[in-house]
Amino acid sequence: LVTDDPILYRARVAPGRPALFEIATGRQLTYAELDARIARCAGLLSEALGARRDGARVAMLARNSMDSIVLAFACQRAGAIYVPLNWRLNAAELRPILADCAPALLVHDEEFASTVASLAGADPEMAVISTADGPARGLAARIEASLPAAPVSVDADEPCVLLYTSGTTGQPKGVVITRRNAFFAAINFSVVGEIGPKSVALCDLPFFHTIGLIAVARTTLMLGGTLVVSDRFTPARTLAALADRQRAVTHYFAVPQIALALRNDPAYSAAALAGLHALFVGGAPLTQALIESYLDDGVALVNGYGMSEAGTVLHVPIDRRAVQDNPSSVGLPAPLLDIRIVGEDGREVDEGEIGELWLRGPAVTPGYWNKPQETAAAFTDGWYRTGDLGRREANGFYRIVDRLKDMYISGGENVYPAEVEAVLASHPDILDAAVVGIPDIRWGECGVAYVVVGPGAVATGDEIAGHCAARLAAFKRPARILFVEAIPRTASGKVQKHVLRQFHSDETL
Ligand code: ATP
Ligand code: MG
Repeated sequence: LVTDDPILYRARVAPGRPALFEIATGRQLTYAELDARIARCAGLLSEALGARRDGARVAMLARNSMDSIVLAFACQRAGAIYVPLNWRLNAAELRPILADCAPALLVHDEEFASTVASLAGADPEMAVISTADGPARGLAARIEASLPAAPVSVDADEPCVLLYTSGTTGQPKGVVITRRNAFFAAINFSVVGEIGPKSVALCDLPFFHTIGLIAVARTTLMLGGTLVVSDRFTPARTLAALADRQRAVTHYFAVPQIALALRNDPAYSAAALAGLHALFVGGAPLTQALIESYLDDGVALVNGYGMSEAGTVLHVPIDRRAVQDNPSSVGLPAPLLDIRIVGEDGREVDEGEIGELWLRGPAVTPGYWNKPQETAAAFTDGWYRTGDLGRREANGFYRIVDRLKDMYISGGENVYPAEVEAVLASHPDILDAAVVGIPDIRWGECGVAYVVVGPGAVATGDEIAGHCAARLAAFKRPARILFVEAIPRTASGKVQKHVLRQFHSDETL
């Protein structure tokens, strides 16, 4: 199978169309140029990996760039597996990931050279290439000096990407993305995201997560649009890119933390976002206040839900009415996904009831790299059990309630911390909040709220408790409120509850 390579197809259909634009350098590539560069990069991989090429892992520790995309598609053409690494992790965090995927080649930015030096010692077999020229030639020069290679034919169920999960609930796991998974995840997003040949998608979310690499990059290129690659998010840079009428960005993607930072930036103006077909937000819970503040500005903000294991799962349709009529909803299922909401007894729950979301479909991973036990634990009869709790409303729209692991039971009642967090977040003095359940002699479990207040805030613990008491049933109210400087979050802005629980048990020892 070679026809799933979106660039090969586009280079034939519309060779002269702009494929990529790199903000950091101003470089651009048409589809024909991108195709030619990928072919040379595939040649470089054949040469560098030799006979070990089939299924070899090629890791990349680099910020978003044109050549990240080139390398990702070159891996697919050469029959290798692209493994984008989270550059926000330190050497100690990356070490187990590298030991797990054992890449034959690691490509890195100079910025991460010292991390790489400390990692490379563990595996003398691993070849290392920098993206910058130094004593040795860098990636770009090597690509340009290589001979183009023809795509190898590979089965659709062979992996082409390994995506490590965010590590919100524990150690990151390597999610195997087959060529079939990648193709259908992109098809799914093209439908919910309304992406086509005229789309111009700005991506400053990192390519080491599914949103950046699959939903944004692969979908846009597969549909023949233009991908604008940014190597970092700063509100100023993003606002400037969005306001650039010549570039005419139509699709922008954010995690809630970024959508909030953008909205609160002094340079923010609704006019800068006026050209957007939609602002896509997902990956973590989004406050209703933020959704409404964008809607008030005339920006079509749409909330979505997905994960490394399945790509885009749910998305609110790009329609103001749909967003307004379904507050806090994550929308409707992507086209090629079967979704079940399953109760503790393993049976589907009734409409409106809370249960675990199970998924099946061609975009869903076959499992975790090297982790047969975790894979077996996450699948039942071909269904992937997401570990997320949700419910389906009468109109077919879904809501995410919380993670199963984060739910706790107080006095026999289920408490979903996300609900308590939303109440805390609605307090004017609270900037950030997270709630975890901890063992309690009287109630079985009770909630501890960690809150971050803004500069000059006057709210006391008692006052915040009163705010909760006015809005939540007694069993949902946090038993303790602790003021902290910051809430521990992953690179994608998700609260690491296991870190908070650890905090708490360390503190009470
Ligand atoms: P790990 O699996 O290592 O614990 P992770 O689940 O955070 O980390 P990802 O695959 O990056 O890793 O994230 C997917 C998860 O993010 C989902 O399973 C869900 O819990 C959460 N999520 C995604 N979108 C939303 C959303 N719109 N609202 C609430 N939660 C969301
Ligand atoms: Mg997960």
